[in-house]
Amino acid sequence: MKTIGMIGGMSWESSAQYYRIVNEEVKRQLGGLHSAKIILFSVDFNEIERCQSEGRWHEAGQILGEAANSLEKAGADFIVICTNTMHKVIDQIYQKTSLPIVHIADETAAQIKKMGIKKVGLLGTKYTMEQDFYKSRIQTENIEVLIPDEKDRNLINKTIFDELCLGSIQPSSREYFKSIIEGLAAEGAEGIILGCTEIGLLIKQEDAVIPLFDTTVIHANGVVEKALNT
Ligand code: GLU
Repeated sequence: MKTIGMIGGMSWESSAQYYRIVNEEVKRQLGGLHSAKIILFSVDFNEIERCQSEGRWHEAGQILGEAANSLEKAGADFIVICTNTMHKVIDQIYQKTSLPIVHIADETAAQIKKMGIKKVGLLGTKYTMEQDFYKSRIQTENIEVLIPDEKDRNLINKTIFDELCLGSIQPSSREYFKSIIEGLAAEGAEGIILGCTEIGLLIKQEDAVIPLFDTTVIHANGVVEKALNT
């Protein structure tokens, strides 16, 4: 079994899910007392969030690059960045490590393709929904990406940072997300990417009439596949 190097803490609420899902999946596949070999570098999300909101992406990239470098030195075989948004700085992280990184958007695109879906809605932070670093990885696979309108994008972003990353799960926010998903489905989306690793804490498949692609679950399962298959 390979050793997984996780860069977490963005937020720790979702990193805890990664830890649980990866271990559950290793146990499911290997049985008995088997569990995953994981080295976790968990950052202080306050520092990262301030870099994001103040546009200091290079500084955030430096912090995550150092984290990857530490994981490599500690014996990790590959790296996982436990957030969609911070894949924006993946090139900078690669400058600090020679290890492979399992890209969350590539894993997600592969699952969407497997289901034969051609058009998806994307929910995530405003950076993930509005910028190109994430959408382009999905579009390269010939999958069209729809995003909510500006008002909804701002509210989704606010919910992520003011509620979900703080572990606050509000039924009113769930209803709001459900209505956004319905709107995207009415526009032709055949599935929805939960493109923020905390959204799965709020929204489950039963909340939607079209398939949901929970990036936390998809990424964590992809990581286990890489850890167990040589
Ligand atoms: N975990 C979130 C994501 O998947 C948001 C936190 C962050 O900005 O990294 O994008």
